[in-house]
Amino acid sequence: MTLIKDNIAAIEAQISQACNQCKRSETDVTLLAVSKTKPSSLIEQAYAAGQRAFGESYVQESVEKITQLSHLSDICWHFIGPIQSNKTRQIAENFTWVHGIDRIKIATRLNEHRSTQDTPLNVCLQINISNEISKSGVLLNELPELAQYVNTCDNLVLRGIMAIPEKNASAETFEKMHEVFNSLKKTYPSIDTLSMGMSGDMEQAIISGSTMVRVGTAIFGARS
Ligand SMILES: *Cc1c(COP(=O)(O)O)cnc(C)c1O
Repeated sequence: MTLIKDNIAAIEAQISQACNQCKRSETDVTLLAVSKTKPSSLIEQAYAAGQRAFGESYVQESVEKITQLSHLSDICWHFIGPIQSNKTRQIAENFTWVHGIDRIKIATRLNEHRSTQDTPLNVCLQINISNEISKSGVLLNELPELAQYVNTCDNLVLRGIMAIPEKNASAETFEKMHEVFNSLKKTYPSIDTLSMGMSGDMEQAIISGSTMVRVGTAIFGARS
């Protein structure tokens, strides 16, 4: 049986190798451990190995785990799933980051619900970079308006952009995200996060400037 801590060490080694390859500092890339569908006991193992940032996709399941693990008070919880508008209160009240904002209505609701908390919510705008009909995310031509709106929300901090490139996406797709990230950063100084790369495409994502890779399977094993 492989241990979670060995898997995390292997991923960290891959991150630092990819960083070396493109002359970036490995401290520029944060590993987000995607624990969706996995029990709290495995999250505790990852925590014991030093992991602090965790990504979840399903609201009810994640709120249960966040409650169970509330004694681990320095865990940083990221919501990375699609956001339904009737779930925005729970998301705003339980998470520190949200990666999948793709419309004004959702931003408005998260901003309202976050007003009860001491700190603003860190958010990334999700971009449908491969123009897939079935995927969530804003199209690039809609991004400026959404970014401008989110930037006016007092209880949200615009931290960056996120994408889930299609399987076997070309290097150009990743590079396009890199360009969008660099150009948006010029307008919004709060932007420092390019959330891109998963178990299968982490290396390309890092070469194309990712600052946060979201890794599930390679840490916790396959999801059933
Ligand atoms: C599930 C998920 C991941 C992790 O995917 P793996 O292939 O298991 O590493 C990353 N990002 C998002 C948005 C996800 O939903």
